[in-house]
Amino acid sequence: MIDLRSDTVTQPTEEMRRIMAQAPVGDDVFGEDPSVNALQEYVAELLGKEAALFVPSGVMGNQIALALHCRPGDEVIVEAASHIFTYETAAPAVIARVQLCCLPSAMGQIPLEELQRALRPREYYFPRTALLCLENTHNRHGGTVLPLSYIEQAAELVRRYGIALHCDGARLWNACAATGITPRQYAEPFDTVMVCFSKGLGAPVGSALVGSRAFIEEARRWRKILGGGMRQAGILAAAALYALRHHRERLQEDHEHARLFATLLADAAVVEVDLERVQTNIVVFRYPQKISFAAFAEACRREGVLLSQGLPGYARAVFHLHISRQQACEAAQRIIRAVRSPGVV
Ligand SMILES: *Cc1c(COP(=O)(O)O)cnc(C)c1O
Repeated sequence: MIDLRSDTVTQPTEEMRRIMAQAPVGDDVFGEDPSVNALQEYVAELLGKEAALFVPSGVMGNQIALALHCRPGDEVIVEAASHIFTYETAAPAVIARVQLCCLPSAMGQIPLEELQRALRPREYYFPRTALLCLENTHNRHGGTVLPLSYIEQAAELVRRYGIALHCDGARLWNACAATGITPRQYAEPFDTVMVCFSKGLGAPVGSALVGSRAFIEEARRWRKILGGGMRQAGILAAAALYALRHHRERLQEDHEHARLFATLLADAAVVEVDLERVQTNIVVFRYPQKISFAAFAEACRREGVLLSQGLPGYARAVFHLHISRQQACEAAQRIIRAVRSPGVV
């Protein structure tokens, strides 16, 4: 079975497991886990921020950022297909108790005029626009990369209104691998950035939130409130640090495999693929619309490929460190066979 549902299905490698088994650990709630501390220092440095906090999941990192940047009743601007709006179980309503203002875009870049229009005038009867979140790469739009110039312009605009800026950088590493822009350059316009280790980097668990020292101190309180204070978390942090050091460069291979797969599908002309969107390790494509996604996914599963659902009408294939070049080609051929199979055509 070729599992392209997500880059979160990756398993720790042999070497990663060895590093985890040997990691020095302590009680991280006391701040005494050397592996967690090493990871946090490394990530803060890599992203050019004062401090970092290891958190169990990307959702927790994002939600802590919302809770700290906003007061209850504030408004947060997000892209309409963003992870924060789509896949975080309405957590902003529950934890930060904020309202989301969702602005649509073609590939994750909210047009600046739309952004400008959404900023609320300072009247007591309007919600207060407190935060702008940008997602890089953009998951549901197909792993699309935000240009640095776009981020800088958006930042310049919202800063004039005293609005904070958070990056959902679950796959920021992919954006860096695709463009050559450093994590530090990409993080620079933001107050806070959340990054994941459990996606294409292949670590089993964990994300980090980075920002100023004062912000991260408060974030530690919020992590505890949410039940995310872990004890000998160094076992996990060691895997994340290993993944950062050894699996970041190879993301480029996943991007090549995604492009190869997308090109084969596009050439066969059995499904619609927009090659302009294939910028990193995700390929979204339109499956035959006469059948449901569940029926299409089942036809692919019978041929030996697992896919996930993207935007309505779209299937999603994600490339990661367990998928070879040969499997990327094989997956495209199997999907072409599935599309031509009885019940689909
Ligand atoms: C995966 C992901 C997250 C965080 O997800 P967790 O499963 O909580 O780690 C956040 N944002 C984006 C864009 C993601 O793809």
